[in-house]
Amino acid sequence: MSFNIRWLNSRVGYIDAPTTIGVLKSDNSQVILVDSGLNKEAARKLLKTLENEGLNLVAVINTHSHADHCGGSAFLKERLKCRIFAPSGEAEILENPYWEPFYLFGGSPIKEMQVSFLMTQGVKVDGRLEPGKLRINSLEIEILALPGHTPHQAGVMVDDFIFASDSLFTEELWEKHFFVYFSNIEKTIQTLNFLKSLKKKLILSHRGLCEDPVKLVEFNLRKIEETADIIYQELGENALSTDELLKKVSDKKGVNLKDAPSYFLARQTLISYLSYLKEIGKIGFKIEDNAFLWMPQK
Ligand SMILES: [Zn+2]
Repeated sequence: MSFNIRWLNSRVGYIDAPTTIGVLKSDNSQVILVDSGLNKEAARKLLKTLENEGLNLVAVINTHSHADHCGGSAFLKERLKCRIFAPSGEAEILENPYWEPFYLFGGSPIKEMQVSFLMTQGVKVDGRLEPGKLRINSLEIEILALPGHTPHQAGVMVDDFIFASDSLFTEELWEKHFFVYFSNIEKTIQTLNFLKSLKKKLILSHRGLCEDPVKLVEFNLRKIEETADIIYQELGENALSTDELLKKVSDKKGVNLKDAPSYFLARQTLISYLSYLKEIGKIGFKIEDNAFLWMPQK
């Protein structure tokens, strides 16, 4: 079994794996991948795809530390001795995957949080990425800082295309999930405006080439403002703990928090919005009777 590569020009392509994997080809059939799929199985299929196409993998650029993006990197490095790149700040989690469930849970994670979706097999990172031009063998690309979804997410710009990773999501995905994961709302908004200003074609991790980037960026900006407003309205005049508010918003929006990972991913997204609402002066907090409570700013 192998994947299909969708080529966008002579050297830029991508695979729907189903999380997008970018394929960047140099003249002599060397390739760099942008992200590596969910796990060993995806990586194995990827290996087969590259073999079938006569492509020689020299490096993987991981855009951020989420398992569906970097889960295949350890296997590819072990099998092909390719170099592994990741942005500074994300590289630390690729090397120490325990940090992922640790920070989501907010302390020593229960075993139900130490699952492959949240914790990859660790991989040693050979190069830490900073924004700017990067040359790997004969391929020159540009690394963009796209923080917000995760604190140090990076994008990859080649020719007219930007692999925008999880900076923005499709209308279908927003329809399915109320809590679309972001770690920082203000930075997400800045990143979306930055992507819009570059006027390039965007390739999303979920999923593939975006037909109308400006329209989708604006849709994401509207959804973010709308989500912040719903959370603010649900807090109302109350003083509520994070978990009380999470239940209230989830009940209202028909969100089904079915297991520990979905609960803590939604909880962290809620906290990102609450931090944002606090920083723009709409809400505050108090600690009362040993409880941390969010409240509207008078
Ligand atoms: Zn992600």
